[in-house]
Amino acid sequence: MIPFNRPLVLGTELDGIAQVLRGVSFSGDGAMTKQCQTLLEQHCRVRKVLLTTSCSSALEMCALMLDLQPGDEVIMPSYTFVSTANAFVLHGATPVFIDIRPDTMNLDENLIEAAITPRTRAIVPVHYAGVSCEMDAICALAAEHGLAVIEDAAQGLMASYKGRPLGSMGEAGCLSFHETKNYHMGEGGALLLKNESFSERAEIIWQKGTNRAQFLNGQIDKYTWVDVGSSYLPGELNAAFLLPQLAELEPVNLNRLSGWRHYYDGLRHLQDAGLLELPQIPAGCEHNAHLFWVKCADLAERTALISHLRERGIQAVFHYVPLHSSPGGQQFGRFCGEDRFTTVESERLVRLPLFYGLKQVEIDRVVTAIESFFKDRRNGKGKG
Ligand SMILES: *Cc1c(COP(=O)(O)O)cnc(C)c1O
Repeated sequence: MIPFNRPLVLGTELDGIAQVLRGVSFSGDGAMTKQCQTLLEQHCRVRKVLLTTSCSSALEMCALMLDLQPGDEVIMPSYTFVSTANAFVLHGATPVFIDIRPDTMNLDENLIEAAITPRTRAIVPVHYAGVSCEMDAICALAAEHGLAVIEDAAQGLMASYKGRPLGSMGEAGCLSFHETKNYHMGEGGALLLKNESFSERAEIIWQKGTNRAQFLNGQIDKYTWVDVGSSYLPGELNAAFLLPQLAELEPVNLNRLSGWRHYYDGLRHLQDAGLLELPQIPAGCEHNAHLFWVKCADLAERTALISHLRERGIQAVFHYVPLHSSPGGQQFGRFCGEDRFTTVESERLVRLPLFYGLKQVEIDRVVTAIESFFKDRRNGKGKG
């Protein structure tokens, strides 16, 4: 069986964990957390990074920092994970979903302006598959209309846009270290802050609404409740698991990229023959091989392909059910404009197994299975 994902384990994670066990502190904001944050600050070239319990909680911290009021609106794609919307709904705002571009499955930057109303507060680009949204256009529009840009870069560590790391271009960026992502700590995430202005308040929100961080730094002599906040800090054991993975950012990325490339080269002839579609990486975008997707003709063909692969011991999966057509999305948000691509494109997309350590012979097996699927279909077998 070739699983869809195998969470990254390098083996070196035990060293850091042993170090924590020998120490005296297990709660958040300790030495392991600080080392993870410093590595990420250097890599992502941002002012401040706060390690969080998830990308969902990093997004929620952004919602708190925006001081959202009921009726405020946040523009985002409908083709995303529920957390992108939930974070803002939890703090009173209405997600306004816009359509995506079929080439990257990212929000269509040309549709943002029409979705802006006097209640709009932020734009939330989601960098699907670690392929960047058109950030120049998005940031220019946000500046023109006085909106914040909050990047959902859950899938984006090691990817960039015109040389700038994903998550470093908006007022804030949110990474995920869930086990399904390229680097992980079981459950976890990080909040990336470009400027000083946001970072002080973010640290207070992170520390349960207290000025504990300033107190520990000796900047103030009283540790007290000063703002809203919650417990967004992961414990040191989780940070210790993540740290060695962050020390191997490049080798892990290269391994994934070579798997991605192997799929692409193996499947290109099927695209040339008009049988399926492969991802397109726009100029200026360096992706991180977070996932490899292919698009079938339609939902029926995708369903057939997934079961064809399953019968051959290969686990391929689909996502996302567009948020605007889910019960939650209907209750809490609204779609602006026409759904030209979100629904039809999401129904055609299937993700193939891709993880660190996936062997080329395994990828060859997947490619051969996909070839046999389309051969059967061309010969009339398996239709209907
Ligand atoms: C994984 C993911 C999230 C949620 O990440 P968690 O760390 O599990 O909260 C949010 N948005 C996108 C686009 C994701 O892929």
